Amino acid sequence: GDGANQKIDYVFKVVLIGDSAVGKSQILARFARNEFSLDSKSTIGVEFQTRTLLIHHKTVKAQIWDTAGQERYRAVTSAYYRGAVGAMLVYDITKRQTFDHIPRWLEELRNHADKNIVIILIGNKCDLEDQRDVPTEDAKEFAEKEGLFFLETSALEATNVETAFMTVLTEIYNIVN
Ligand code: GDP
Ligand code: MG
Repeated sequence: GDGANQKIDYVFKVVLIGDSAVGKSQILARFARNEFSLDSKSTIGVEFQTRTLLIHHKTVKAQIWDTAGQERYRAVTSAYYRGAVGAMLVYDITKRQTFDHIPRWLEELRNHADKNIVIILIGNKCDLEDQRDVPTEDAKEFAEKEGLFFLETSALEATNVETAFMTVLTEIYNIVN
Protein backbone atom coordinates (compact mmCIF):
# COMPACT_ATOMS: atom_id res chain seq x y z
CA GLY A 1 0.00 0.00 0.00
CA ASP A 2 0.88 3.71 0.12
CA GLY A 3 1.64 3.86 3.84
CA ALA A 4 2.94 7.23 5.02
CA ASN A 5 6.01 5.74 6.70
CA GLN A 6 6.91 3.58 3.73
CA LYS A 7 10.43 3.94 2.39
CA ILE A 8 10.43 4.54 -1.37
CA ASP A 9 13.48 3.26 -3.22
CA TYR A 10 12.53 4.58 -6.68
CA VAL A 11 10.01 6.88 -8.34
CA PHE A 12 9.43 6.08 -12.02
CA LYS A 13 7.45 8.48 -14.19
CA VAL A 14 5.53 6.79 -16.99
CA VAL A 15 3.42 8.67 -19.55
CA LEU A 16 0.30 7.48 -21.35
CA ILE A 17 -0.07 8.68 -24.94
CA GLY A 18 -2.25 7.91 -27.94
CA ASP A 19 -5.40 9.20 -29.62
CA SER A 20 -8.45 10.32 -27.69
CA ALA A 21 -10.89 7.61 -26.51
CA VAL A 22 -8.52 4.64 -26.90
CA GLY A 23 -8.85 3.97 -23.16
CA LYS A 24 -5.77 5.63 -21.59
CA SER A 25 -7.66 6.98 -18.57
CA GLN A 26 -9.41 3.68 -17.95
CA ILE A 27 -6.14 1.73 -18.21
CA LEU A 28 -4.77 4.08 -15.54
CA ALA A 29 -7.91 3.76 -13.38
CA ARG A 30 -7.61 -0.03 -13.61
CA PHE A 31 -3.94 0.00 -12.64
CA ALA A 32 -4.06 2.68 -9.92
CA ARG A 33 -7.44 1.95 -8.27
CA ASN A 34 -8.68 -1.27 -9.86
CA GLU A 35 -11.65 0.68 -11.22
CA PHE A 36 -13.31 0.99 -14.61
CA SER A 37 -15.92 3.46 -15.85
CA LEU A 38 -17.90 3.73 -19.05
CA ASP A 39 -17.92 7.50 -18.46
CA SER A 40 -14.82 8.78 -20.24
CA LYS A 41 -15.02 12.16 -18.48
CA SER A 42 -14.49 10.66 -15.04
CA THR A 43 -10.79 11.39 -14.76
CA ILE A 44 -10.41 14.63 -16.70
CA GLY A 45 -8.19 17.11 -14.90
CA VAL A 46 -6.15 14.50 -13.06
CA GLU A 47 -2.50 14.96 -13.97
CA PHE A 48 -1.13 11.70 -12.64
CA GLN A 49 -1.85 8.84 -10.27
CA THR A 50 0.54 6.72 -8.31
CA ARG A 51 0.78 3.16 -7.17
CA THR A 52 3.54 1.76 -5.04
CA LEU A 53 4.70 -1.78 -5.70
CA LEU A 54 7.57 -4.13 -5.09
CA ILE A 55 10.05 -5.00 -7.84
CA HIS A 56 12.90 -7.33 -6.91
CA HIS A 57 12.33 -6.49 -3.20
CA LYS A 58 12.59 -2.74 -3.81
CA THR A 59 9.75 -0.26 -3.26
CA VAL A 60 8.91 1.45 -6.55
CA LYS A 61 6.45 4.31 -6.74
CA ALA A 62 4.99 4.35 -10.25
CA GLN A 63 3.84 7.86 -11.14
CA ILE A 64 1.60 7.47 -14.19
CA TRP A 65 0.72 10.59 -16.19
CA ASP A 66 -2.48 10.93 -18.20
CA THR A 67 -3.03 13.47 -20.98
CA ALA A 68 -6.47 14.53 -19.67
CA GLY A 69 -7.87 15.41 -23.09
CA GLN A 70 -4.96 17.42 -24.49
CA GLU A 71 -4.45 14.81 -27.20
CA ARG A 72 -7.50 16.18 -29.01
CA TYR A 73 -5.69 19.42 -29.68
CA ARG A 74 -2.24 17.90 -30.20
CA ALA A 75 -1.21 20.01 -27.25
CA VAL A 76 0.81 17.49 -25.30
CA THR A 77 3.74 19.63 -24.20
CA SER A 78 7.36 18.81 -23.50
CA ALA A 79 6.65 19.25 -19.75
CA TYR A 80 4.49 16.16 -19.99
CA TYR A 81 7.41 14.07 -21.25
CA ARG A 82 10.04 15.64 -18.95
CA GLY A 83 11.62 13.07 -16.64
CA ALA A 84 9.60 10.19 -18.07
CA VAL A 85 11.44 6.87 -18.00
CA GLY A 86 8.57 4.87 -19.50
CA ALA A 87 5.80 5.37 -22.04
CA MET A 88 2.66 3.49 -22.93
CA LEU A 89 1.63 4.08 -26.52
CA VAL A 90 -2.05 3.14 -26.72
CA TYR A 91 -4.39 2.45 -29.67
CA ASP A 92 -7.86 0.92 -29.87
CA ILE A 93 -7.97 -2.49 -31.63
CA THR A 94 -11.45 -1.60 -32.97
CA LYS A 95 -10.31 1.68 -34.62
CA ARG A 96 -7.68 1.31 -37.34
CA GLN A 97 -7.07 5.07 -37.43
CA THR A 98 -5.79 5.04 -33.83
CA PHE A 99 -3.19 2.44 -34.87
CA ASP A 100 -2.29 4.34 -38.03
CA HIS A 101 -1.47 7.37 -35.83
CA ILE A 102 1.00 5.39 -33.71
CA PRO A 103 4.07 6.35 -35.82
CA ARG A 104 3.18 10.01 -35.25
CA TRP A 105 3.00 9.48 -31.47
CA LEU A 106 6.27 7.57 -31.57
CA GLU A 107 7.94 10.46 -33.38
CA GLU A 108 6.55 12.86 -30.74
CA LEU A 109 8.08 10.66 -28.06
CA ARG A 110 11.41 10.43 -29.80
CA ASN A 111 11.49 14.21 -30.22
CA HIS A 112 10.53 15.10 -26.64
CA ALA A 113 11.48 12.24 -24.35
CA ASP A 114 14.76 10.78 -23.13
CA LYS A 115 16.33 8.53 -25.76
CA ASN A 116 16.50 5.59 -23.32
CA ILE A 117 12.78 5.72 -22.47
CA VAL A 118 11.16 2.26 -22.24
CA ILE A 119 8.16 2.05 -24.57
CA ILE A 120 5.31 -0.44 -24.73
CA LEU A 121 2.75 -0.48 -27.56
CA ILE A 122 -0.72 -1.32 -26.25
CA GLY A 123 -3.73 -2.46 -28.26
CA ASN A 124 -6.60 -1.77 -25.85
CA LYS A 125 -10.25 -2.99 -25.85
CA CYS A 126 -9.31 -6.59 -26.71
CA ASP A 127 -12.64 -7.60 -25.11
CA LEU A 128 -14.28 -6.28 -28.33
CA GLU A 129 -12.89 -9.09 -30.51
CA ASP A 130 -15.96 -9.07 -32.78
CA GLN A 131 -15.22 -5.43 -33.70
CA ARG A 132 -11.48 -5.94 -34.25
CA ASP A 133 -10.04 -3.60 -36.92
CA VAL A 134 -6.30 -4.12 -36.23
CA PRO A 135 -4.84 -7.64 -36.62
CA THR A 136 -2.56 -8.59 -33.72
CA GLU A 137 0.11 -9.55 -36.26
CA ASP A 138 0.27 -6.00 -37.74
CA ALA A 139 0.97 -4.50 -34.32
CA LYS A 140 3.42 -7.23 -33.36
CA GLU A 141 5.37 -6.66 -36.57
CA PHE A 142 5.43 -2.88 -36.04
CA ALA A 143 6.57 -3.28 -32.42
CA GLU A 144 9.38 -5.64 -33.42
CA LYS A 145 10.56 -3.28 -36.16
CA GLU A 146 10.61 -0.32 -33.74
CA GLY A 147 11.99 -2.22 -30.75
CA LEU A 148 8.92 -1.78 -28.55
CA PHE A 149 7.27 -4.15 -26.10
CA PHE A 150 3.74 -5.08 -27.18
CA LEU A 151 0.57 -6.33 -25.47
CA GLU A 152 -3.15 -6.28 -26.10
CA THR A 153 -5.18 -5.22 -23.06
CA SER A 154 -8.71 -4.73 -21.84
CA ALA A 155 -9.19 -2.11 -19.15
CA LEU A 156 -12.79 -3.30 -18.93
CA GLU A 157 -11.93 -6.93 -18.19
CA ALA A 158 -8.57 -6.14 -16.55
CA THR A 159 -6.75 -8.27 -19.14
CA ASN A 160 -2.98 -7.67 -19.26
CA VAL A 161 -3.16 -4.23 -17.61
CA GLU A 162 -1.05 -5.33 -14.65
CA THR A 163 1.32 -7.21 -16.98
CA ALA A 164 1.74 -4.15 -19.21
CA PHE A 165 2.77 -1.91 -16.31
CA MET A 166 4.98 -4.59 -14.77
CA THR A 167 6.73 -5.12 -18.12
CA VAL A 168 7.61 -1.42 -18.37
CA LEU A 169 8.49 -0.92 -14.69
CA THR A 170 10.63 -4.06 -14.48
CA GLU A 171 12.55 -3.08 -17.64
CA ILE A 172 13.14 0.43 -16.22
CA TYR A 173 14.28 -1.15 -12.95
CA ASN A 174 16.71 -3.40 -14.83
CA ILE A 175 18.14 -0.41 -16.72
CA VAL A 176 18.82 1.66 -13.58
CA ASN A 177 20.32 -1.32 -11.71
P1 GDP B 1 -8.90 8.15 -23.32
O1 GDP B 1 -9.50 9.33 -24.03
O2 GDP B 1 -7.82 7.51 -24.13
O3 GDP B 1 -8.46 8.48 -21.92
O4 GDP B 1 -10.05 7.04 -23.22
P2 GDP B 1 -11.00 6.67 -21.96
O5 GDP B 1 -10.22 5.93 -20.93
O6 GDP B 1 -11.70 7.89 -21.53
O7 GDP B 1 -11.99 5.63 -22.64
C1 GDP B 1 -12.80 6.00 -23.74
C2 GDP B 1 -14.04 5.11 -23.79
O8 GDP B 1 -13.64 3.76 -24.05
C3 GDP B 1 -14.82 5.09 -22.46
O9 GDP B 1 -16.20 5.01 -22.75
C4 GDP B 1 -14.33 3.82 -21.80
O10 GDP B 1 -15.29 3.28 -20.92
C5 GDP B 1 -14.09 2.91 -23.01
N1 GDP B 1 -13.06 1.90 -22.75
C6 GDP B 1 -11.83 2.10 -22.22
N2 GDP B 1 -11.15 0.96 -22.14
C7 GDP B 1 -11.95 -0.01 -22.62
C8 GDP B 1 -11.81 -1.43 -22.78
O11 GDP B 1 -10.80 -2.06 -22.47
N3 GDP B 1 -12.88 -2.09 -23.35
C9 GDP B 1 -14.04 -1.45 -23.72
N4 GDP B 1 -15.02 -2.19 -24.24
N5 GDP B 1 -14.19 -0.11 -23.56
C10 GDP B 1 -13.18 0.59 -23.03
MG1 MG C 1 -8.44 10.33 -20.97
